[in-house]
Amino acid sequence: MSKMKRFYSEMRKGKNERSSSSTGSFEMFKITESELSDELDQEVLQGHGEKKEIELEQKIKKLAYHIREIIKVIGDDPEREGLKKTPERYSKALIEILSGYFSNPDGEVNGAIFSSDYKGLVFVGNIKFFSLCEHHMLPFFGTASIAYLPKNKIIGLSKIPRIIKVFASRLQVQERLTEEIGNFIEKTVQAEGVAVYISAYHLCLAMRGARKEDVVMETLFFSGKFKSDWEIKRIFLEKINKTDK
Ligand code: ZN
Repeated sequence: MSKMKRFYSEMRKGKNERSSSSTGSFEMFKITESELSDELDQEVLQGHGEKKEIELEQKIKKLAYHIREIIKVIGDDPEREGLKKTPERYSKALIEILSGYFSNPDGEVNGAIFSSDYKGLVFVGNIKFFSLCEHHMLPFFGTASIAYLPKNKIIGLSKIPRIIKVFASRLQVQERLTEEIGNFIEKTVQAEGVAVYISAYHLCLAMRGARKEDVVMETLFFSGKFKSDWEIKRIFLEKINKTDK
């Protein structure tokens, strides 16, 4: 399969080649921008692409048109050498950054829910994520820590960073991102309770407006036993204090 086809098919499935390191960090698509551009020309523009690929190519073209207009309005020349390919480049980057619109969290879990008698706490901490704030379309990024108390089901460990990535790869506010992750894990694992903690830097706060470059926003989600059982809540909060830097 060509890199282009793989890019599209992984985009649709919301799948990324990423490392499964214990830090939970994920990598971007392993395709360079020039490779993407070359293969777009060869496969899509010559009409050999599938319908979905053509749709995506049209989206990129449409986006690039508007980005060119933005550059003009700002007062620069989109035809000068350094900016000539920027609209296309930025469009492809945007499609990649917002890949959550092309995938869904159920697809990411892909049935990796297993029976288990384990009744203890499951904690996955310090998972790095990147998102775009929906108010300014500027990045916010940080770490998420998730815990749940299984009833009789557990979720494949590698699925948790993937779930976070799908929800983060959409225009978001941190509050909703936190709730969407929590509600989805609760529904999918049918746990006794779920806790989510997110801590993130917002470039819209650091680069503009108040210019508070070192302010971190923290959000918490609790459901089930994490709401009613103070001891479990305390254990979670202690863990995030240890994990979060
Ligand atoms: Zn913002």
